[in-house]
Amino acid sequence: MDAYPGAVIPPDASARPPATSPRTLVVAAGRPPRTQGAPVNPPVVLSSTYVSQGVPGPDELLYARIGTETWHPFEQALAELEGTPLPALVTGSGMAAIAAAFSLVPPGGRLVLPRHCYQVTIGHAHDLAQRSGVTVDLVDIDDTAAVLAAVAGGGERRPADLLWVESPTNPMLEVADLPALAAGAHAAGALVGVDNTFATPLVQRPFEHGADVVVHSVTKYLAGHSDVVLGAALATDPALHARLHDYRTVHGAVAGPFEVWLALRGLRTLALRVERAQANAAELARRLADHPGVAVVRHPSLPDDPGHERAARLMAGFGSILGVRPVGGRAAADAVVAAVRLWVPATSLGGVESSLERRRRFATESPTVPDDLLRLSVGIEDVEDLWRDLDAALRAV
Ligand SMILES: *Cc1c(COP(=O)(O)O)cnc(C)c1O
Repeated sequence: MDAYPGAVIPPDASARPPATSPRTLVVAAGRPPRTQGAPVNPPVVLSSTYVSQGVPGPDELLYARIGTETWHPFEQALAELEGTPLPALVTGSGMAAIAAAFSLVPPGGRLVLPRHCYQVTIGHAHDLAQRSGVTVDLVDIDDTAAVLAAVAGGGERRPADLLWVESPTNPMLEVADLPALAAGAHAAGALVGVDNTFATPLVQRPFEHGADVVVHSVTKYLAGHSDVVLGAALATDPALHARLHDYRTVHGAVAGPFEVWLALRGLRTLALRVERAQANAAELARRLADHPGVAVVRHPSLPDDPGHERAARLMAGFGSILGVRPVGGRAAADAVVAAVRLWVPATSLGGVESSLERRRRFATESPTVPDDLLRLSVGIEDVEDLWRDLDAALRAV
């Protein structure tokens, strides 16, 4: 089944109590075996190749583009967190993981994805449309009926091959009804892939809602310190997993050992970081909703937010990304970014440090994203410091 065997080691959770909480797993998973004198952390192994002769066995380490012992502990830990028996496949970036998932759409096939998902994901879909004749439908992912109508196709259009879900969406923070979408998409014969970057497996576990493939930009919360670029793709079905693994091997967008080691190190504190960042985000959202310099705040924690009910039902938290539209439009948004002194003006998200940007500064961002929308990635600093800085910047413009 897997054309390129070699070193995809399944997770070994046998040493731990079965009911281990995800908050414990981030600390306990992916450790070396507990033998006398063993290190508590896995080593970084720098070797492109491994001693080997003859016909290789299925789990043999052969060559570092196919699999390495420095990847395995992270791949094992992430698989346990997402709740799949098959190891995560770590990739050189989140986009490399998304490319692997999109390779499941055949030439001439159909791909349905959120209008407001990560802009480069949409760019990749358009690239497939041009080069492989894939038909791409952009949908409002929070409108379940519209999404499922697009998936079903009809008339000239065949049913979709893959429904791509991001929830909450980047940067509009729409929340998808994932179980309803997965059930409807499967009934139409489509696979369901979920980009779980914004939520992390501590907040949302897409496989429990029917997803076939889950991807992460590990760059963001999982690694968590804005010092690595990395991705991961996961599946529960062995045949799908083998296709993703073969894609990674032949396309070659693999990770370096240091990056993966740093990601595992970052994962150890994920529960604490997510807990603090979410609490900060909810508190800031509450205060911003009453701020005279703010026209709109989007965060699913707010009781009147369109995503609140679904997020409360489907997620174990509300995430730590805020959407803010200041009074005064685009010029005011740019002025806020220029005025903050603690918040970092930067793209990306999910680091320990709080950052913000106006998304439409990118020409490639969807034109349906408001021109004045600021995306705030709330970090783990003291919330009062974050508030003082933001409040001062909003009042100054
Ligand atoms: C950043 C991001 C990606 C892309 O990940 P890279 O690691 O930058 O390649 C994909 N999806 C979402 C939701 C992201 O925020």
